[in-house]
Amino acid sequence: MSNRPWNFSAGPSVLPVEVLQTAAQEMLDWHGSGMSVMEMSHRGKQFMQICSEAEADLRSLLGLSDEFAVLFTTGGAIGQNAIVPLNLMGRNGAGKADYIVSGSWSKKSWQEAQRYGDAQVAASSGQAVELDGQACEAWTWFPDPATWNVRADAAYLHYCSNETIGGVEFADWPDMAQLGKGDVPVVVDASSNILSRPMDYSRIGMAYAGAQKNAGPAGVTLVVVRRDLLGHALPICPSAFDYAQVAQAGSMYNTPPTYAIYVAGLVFRWLREQGGVAAIEQRNIAKSKLLYDFIDQSGFYVNRVHSRFRSRMNVPFQLVDESLTDAFLKQAGEAQLLQLKGHKSVGGMRASIYNALPLQAVQALVDFMRDFEKRHG
Ligand SMILES: *Cc1c(COP(=O)(O)O)cnc(C)c1O
Repeated sequence: MSNRPWNFSAGPSVLPVEVLQTAAQEMLDWHGSGMSVMEMSHRGKQFMQICSEAEADLRSLLGLSDEFAVLFTTGGAIGQNAIVPLNLMGRNGAGKADYIVSGSWSKKSWQEAQRYGDAQVAASSGQAVELDGQACEAWTWFPDPATWNVRADAAYLHYCSNETIGGVEFADWPDMAQLGKGDVPVVVDASSNILSRPMDYSRIGMAYAGAQKNAGPAGVTLVVVRRDLLGHALPICPSAFDYAQVAQAGSMYNTPPTYAIYVAGLVFRWLREQGGVAAIEQRNIAKSKLLYDFIDQSGFYVNRVHSRFRSRMNVPFQLVDESLTDAFLKQAGEAQLLQLKGHKSVGGMRASIYNALPLQAVQALVDFMRDFEKRHG
């Protein structure tokens, strides 16, 4: 596999090579069935086994209690921006939902929710502030939970635990009871940091993630939702996206994305073999530290995210002399370091360093950055 380039794509993104090898071996004949998983009935014994093992592994990795339902669904995280309010906005009759807006993705979630009810911003990082004595530009920090203006009768509070574009991660999920808002369930868009570090799911009501960042191929959307939140869907909610109906049918209300669930299941098994989420967190700390430390000691590259909120998964960085960006990206591509172009809204570069990307890849990137600086600095 030495001819594989290092893939820093934000999503769809790199998968563990062992997972790809298993999928290749099993492509024509899954476990003596004589069939590809793609060809199996979703209601047959074999696929039911694949799906229930994937669910059991995901539950174990996330540390989910039986209070939660796990749904393998479709429509992506952007679909969930509508599906969440369709399911939860009617929960208590007030038709209100509060949003923390901390970057592009959570802003999109808030905007979509306005189509279904009274969706308000409870806190935003859209202005420059000074934090811990550091000056922070807009969208480079995360609002302190003590400042969140959450309405007592909000049907839910939504935040994004990792802004994939801005590179801002919020990992200290607060205990809402301690904030005096224990009745407001929390909804988390965890698309780009799910399974990257231990998280306390007992503090939230639900989380969702498109699989293609850190959990598998595009096509399956992971939803974990506390069962007491089921059964409040608005009448206009499509049945296929009504969490209660999907949970009742064990994610088989309609045909689920069977092959994507199978590959996600291989990723979950791989993660368990690596020692689970706590072990992968240690690698993610080492990888992100290597890159941030290099950027910080250099006067040539810069990452502007407040140190407490720097994402371990997505590292945006700029050249101080931005006129060198095109040359950087071109030469990085020639060095087999791919997909480093930053999102168009922030420019510069972005290295997405998800679970499946080894330390060796980040080392190769840092070596290249050092060399580029020598030649152009
Ligand atoms: C990628 C991403 C999305 C959009 O996901 P889709 O699967 O394309 O709908 C939403 N939120 C976050 C945090 C993301 O990283």
